[in-house]
Amino acid sequence: MDIALLGLPGAGKGTQASLLAGELGVPHIATGDIFRQAAAEGTPLGDQVRAIMEAGRLVPDALTIAVIRERLGAADCAPGAVLDGFPRTVAQATALDGMLSELGRSLGPAVYLVVDEARAVERLSGRRVCPRCGATYHLETAPPPADGRCGRCGSALVQRADDAPAAQLQRLAAYREATAPVLAYYRRDGRLLEVDGDRPMADVGRAVLAAVRAGGAV
Ligand code: ADP
Ligand code: AMP
Repeated sequence: MDIALLGLPGAGKGTQASLLAGELGVPHIATGDIFRQAAAEGTPLGDQVRAIMEAGRLVPDALTIAVIRERLGAADCAPGAVLDGFPRTVAQATALDGMLSELGRSLGPAVYLVVDEARAVERLSGRRVCPRCGATYHLETAPPPADGRCGRCGSALVQRADDAPAAQLQRLAAYREATAPVLAYYRRDGRLLEVDGDRPMADVGRAVLAAVRAGGAV
């Protein structure tokens, strides 16, 4: 079963996708992580997306859909995957239904982590990430070790370029314009599960798992 996590930038998609994928034993696929890794490695894909991401705009649908199509078709995704940050447009949601159907699969629920914009901004502003292993911290709600280095691998933590205030505003605007309609796309046929994301991480995690199980997805 494939599951998508939706919500504002900073809603907690990455945090919850990682927990849920671990619980279900399927890969966690984050388009943002794929693009960031490509940008860091300087691959042709990375060169195409670096400036777009830093400005907080969306990568074009055709490119994003091609990346996901390749990843979802890989052998380790045969039992399904937890998608984080995809789909972000109705065109991507439609393409996802099509590509899963070609693979003989279907999207179970789209889990919408509900937080308001003020909470999202607090979470984006305090987020610190490890550039080496990808661990995510928050200065207040998930504080890193006192030396400011990653508790997992010891690297110096950084603030994502697109968590700076100007890029945050652009990302919220892109969400309102292009991503909010995706909620209606899934609500229309009963696939949208809404979970209150404005609670401690472990509570949100339990609620996501309960919602997915109650929906009969796993
Ligand atoms: P997204 O993937 O939706 O952008 P993240 O999972 O990266 O969001 O979370 C954004 C920030 O908020 C991170 O710094 C993370 O540690 C923190 N965070 C995530 N979930 C919660 C929560 N339920 N309560 C408090 N802080 C959270
Ligand atoms: P994220 O890590 O999910 O916050 O994504 C970081 C950035 O990657 C976004 O602001 C976009 O620039 C790009 N990105 C990630 N996923 C998508 C997507 N599904 N469609 C378009 N752009 C994306």
